[in-house]
Amino acid sequence: MTQETGGFAALDLHPNIVAAVLATGYEEPSAIQQQSIPIILAGHDMIGQAQTGTGKTAAFALPILNKIDVSKREPQALILAPTRELALQVATAFETYAKQMPGVNVVAVYGGAPMGPQLRAIRNGAQIVVATPGRLCDHLRRDEKVLSTVQYLVLDEADEMLKLGFMDDLEVIFDAIPATRQTVLFSATLPSSIRSIAERHLREPKHVKIQSKTQTVTAIDQAHLMVHADQKIPAVLRLLEVEEFDALIAFVRTKQATLDLAAALEAKGYKAAALNGDIAQNQRERVIDSLKDGRLDIVVATDVAARGLDVPRITHVFNVDMPYDPESYVHRIGRTGRAGREGRALLLVTPRERRMLQVIERVTGQKVAEARLPGPQAVLDARIKKLTASLAPLVAEAEATHGQLFDRLTADLGCSARALSAALLRKATNGQSLDLASVEREQPLVPTFAARERSSERSDRGERSERGDRERRAPMPLAEGRVRCRTALGARDGIAAKNLLGAILNEGGLARDAIGRIQVRDSFSLVELPEDGLERLLTKLKDTRVAGKQLKLRRYRED
Ligand code: AMP
Repeated sequence: MTQETGGFAALDLHPNIVAAVLATGYEEPSAIQQQSIPIILAGHDMIGQAQTGTGKTAAFALPILNKIDVSKREPQALILAPTRELALQVATAFETYAKQMPGVNVVAVYGGAPMGPQLRAIRNGAQIVVATPGRLCDHLRRDEKVLSTVQYLVLDEADEMLKLGFMDDLEVIFDAIPATRQTVLFSATLPSSIRSIAERHLREPKHVKIQSKTQTVTAIDQAHLMVHADQKIPAVLRLLEVEEFDALIAFVRTKQATLDLAAALEAKGYKAAALNGDIAQNQRERVIDSLKDGRLDIVVATDVAARGLDVPRITHVFNVDMPYDPESYVHRIGRTGRAGREGRALLLVTPRERRMLQVIERVTGQKVAEARLPGPQAVLDARIKKLTASLAPLVAEAEATHGQLFDRLTADLGCSARALSAALLRKATNGQSLDLASVEREQPLVPTFAARERSSERSDRGERSERGDRERRAPMPLAEGRVRCRTALGARDGIAAKNLLGAILNEGGLARDAIGRIQVRDSFSLVELPEDGLERLLTKLKDTRVAGKQLKLRRYRED
């Protein structure tokens, strides 16, 4: 066991829960967990002021798992969440933390799915029910006793639930649960409506708030980038192409993530290493020394493992995973900009973490500007710039040392100086793509999204949420020789895949198997087409209309 595991082990949780948490890769409890877990374990009602990203789910899930009686096959804990997405996420978190507790059953109850199986799962012995208020009320209307055995109630993101108009549903649910229950309420903000709920339904609640002091970070140029969680590694690789860094530290949340990212970086030729709590102290010191003296350029670390790390060479901090609180953000980015130097900090933000970004901006008193992922042209320019920089010192003197050899080689090969230089360049650049078309081909598609896009997590029952999901789902990888094209026509224009297929086949004169996948989204569609002859094909389709509207198919670049 490493020294940090003491953090969770000291919390009085069942060893099987601690083991599952450590197996997940968490190294130590976050601030909200540290404070909430003892209070909930002690049986108090609680109000926790915390946002997504602070680790609030585990802050209530771990003590609740500790409290339930696995031998009883009836609902004991009810977690209310504002949206289907959050309900599913919380249910999955419970399952993860309960991995080493046989007999624990978790059911997620939300709108848009059939009610029968949900009710059966509850009746079949789920001890933990994670539900959206609207759907749970539907169940209560069918069976008013369904919650009569619940002893622990958690309201997660209570302010969001009220914003979505669930106030009345919450009252119905409070009434359906025995008054002897323990109630825990988490909310990012505490408007009077929340305080009034707490007054009426919580008993002498303890308050937990992660104190946020304003801290300024001036010498550091900060930016954020919106990216989906599963696209973080390609996004980091792309950013590194253009960022001019000396040494860089990338922060992630789990040990596994340190290993995954470090491996991806090494595979791309970066001198990178992982730093996490599993690595023995003397080995960690070696990693830090290597970063100091340039044997390493990138360290991928968890917060715990990076403690005390002070390397003046660090010019960049990448927050690949969101920090738990603004203080640790400030702490992380303070690793750069040391000794009066300039530093740059980049923060990757996933859709669910937008709020945390706002909190960071408030606490640091600074706007963290939105950056875009560099496109192929920027990547190419950066590569050429690096190549030029590496050649610059040589052109001054290599002619003296290698000029004769050059003459001999051109003579022996019977080629022009240009031809030989090109051959040498190809050799020296080791297969790296250095023209636009090959950079475009090689760059994986990294779908990003803009900060202003509304989150899809706002609607529990409506279909807007599902549609939002579909809009933002990452495109699938492309087959060799295919490119993706986009049209602004989508489902809302009454378009189906077969209409697009028909139009392209008829007007483009293509064979059926030349057309790849067609994805119809709400406000646009993507079609996979052969790269070969694409311009010709797009010209042919210039005036094509589908469902009465102009198709206007264009090559799609996600940047
Ligand atoms: P939440 O604020 O509950 O949505 O949690 C945000 C993310 O932090 C989730 O991906 C969790 O898996 C992760 N997380 C929560 N607690 C810890 C911890 N103590 N160490 C590392 N990661 C954590």
